[in-house]
Amino acid sequence: MQPITNHMPTAELRALDAAHHMHPFTDAAALEKKGARVITRADGVRLWDSEGTEILDGMAGLWCVNIGYGRTELADAAARQMRELPYYNTFFQTTHVPAIALAARIAELAPGDLNHVFFAGSGSEANDTNLRMVRHYWAVKGKPEKTVFISRKNAYHGSSMGSASLGGMQAMHSQGGLPLPGIVHIDQPYWYGEGGDMTPAEFGLARARQLEEKILELGEDRVAAFIAEPIQGAGGVIIPPETYWPEIQRICDKYEILLVADEVICGFGRTGHWFGSQHFGIRPHIMTIAKGLSSGYQPIGGSVVCDEVAETLSHGEFYHGYTYSGHPVAAAVALENLRILEEEDILGHVNRVAAPHLAEAWASLADHPLVGEAVSVGLLGAVALTPDKATRAKFAAEPGTAGFVTRERCFANNLVMRHVGDRMVISPPLIITPGDIDLLVARARTALDEAHAILRTDGLL
Ligand code: PMP
Repeated sequence: MQPITNHMPTAELRALDAAHHMHPFTDAAALEKKGARVITRADGVRLWDSEGTEILDGMAGLWCVNIGYGRTELADAAARQMRELPYYNTFFQTTHVPAIALAARIAELAPGDLNHVFFAGSGSEANDTNLRMVRHYWAVKGKPEKTVFISRKNAYHGSSMGSASLGGMQAMHSQGGLPLPGIVHIDQPYWYGEGGDMTPAEFGLARARQLEEKILELGEDRVAAFIAEPIQGAGGVIIPPETYWPEIQRICDKYEILLVADEVICGFGRTGHWFGSQHFGIRPHIMTIAKGLSSGYQPIGGSVVCDEVAETLSHGEFYHGYTYSGHPVAAAVALENLRILEEEDILGHVNRVAAPHLAEAWASLADHPLVGEAVSVGLLGAVALTPDKATRAKFAAEPGTAGFVTRERCFANNLVMRHVGDRMVISPPLIITPGDIDLLVARARTALDEAHAILRTDGLL
């Protein structure tokens, strides 16, 4: 077989892709008809495809390339580490410098007494760790009946059996016999979509109090933990009302349950803080991290664990671990990524420049006839598509139809923006400039205009 390279014609690459590559979260039949977009290189906030088209990446890959593409320092860190120690494990009383240094650095950055890190290869693996670790923690404390995790509908915590069960995605649960037992879901704090006539403040409280109701229904002595993303990312960038998190915190403090904050998207500067928990004043016992930890340059995740939980677990063996827990190359790259985030004051750029600029530019989309709300926190943003702004109505067509049409128009206008049902979401690299934010919003507006015309023609408006 001839070598497969960037220089091959796109059609041939697509044919080989269709023949051999099974894509995650993709309708294979639909893809085969159309052919995958082949991405060949990237720099800063831009991607290029095999046709030479330049594309603005409004999603930082999958919410992860926080420092932007093309940072050769990370490639150098990986090469250095591969030459010195490409692999060793951290099982059985061994360790290595990259894992030590990265754990210590994360402990420094993490709030409160979150001073301990259990490494994983991804966010899914880290959440599986959390599930087992928390149940084991309660068993060690002499409360083995505390096993139930409370999570939320429309949460995303990963794709493995445990993490997909923790997630609240109905479509995922419909395949593979999920959720696993001992995981229950309460409603999400999505005021725009589900708040009805309540004010956002009332609704935030009502949704938080479902946690208390669920704890009382199950019995406090059976509940192990509550897990949630500070802002639901894959669920559609659902920014909870201000009343929500303080009430959740009050309830977690009142009943003896652990609070797990899934920071896989919100962590490492996305909200303008190191962690989304700091944005909302949440005090978690455990944080899930991945994505921005290495800016996606290497697969790495982990659970950041508070002193008391780590101390409780320190008296015996936790029969859990991944071959790549604390992988030295991934850890070295993550350390270099954290160095860049700090030394280049990228959070300062988010807070002083990019987030305020995005907030204003993004909010301007609210005047578009298709847009019901346009919201952002830090460099996370969403618009809700609606056929009727005044009533926050949903489309008569199957949910996601308008979102899909709009996403296709974004692609056609060389902008990567994702749709979640009929919400359009963005999460650009944190280094994005005001000029590129303006370009992003201008392309989004063009895509919305075109989608509006198509939906009208198709009788969906
Ligand atoms: N938690 C959250 C909040 C996520 O957004 C994701 C990925 N989108 C995950 C967990 C799973 O991470 P991974 O895909 O690295 O397994």
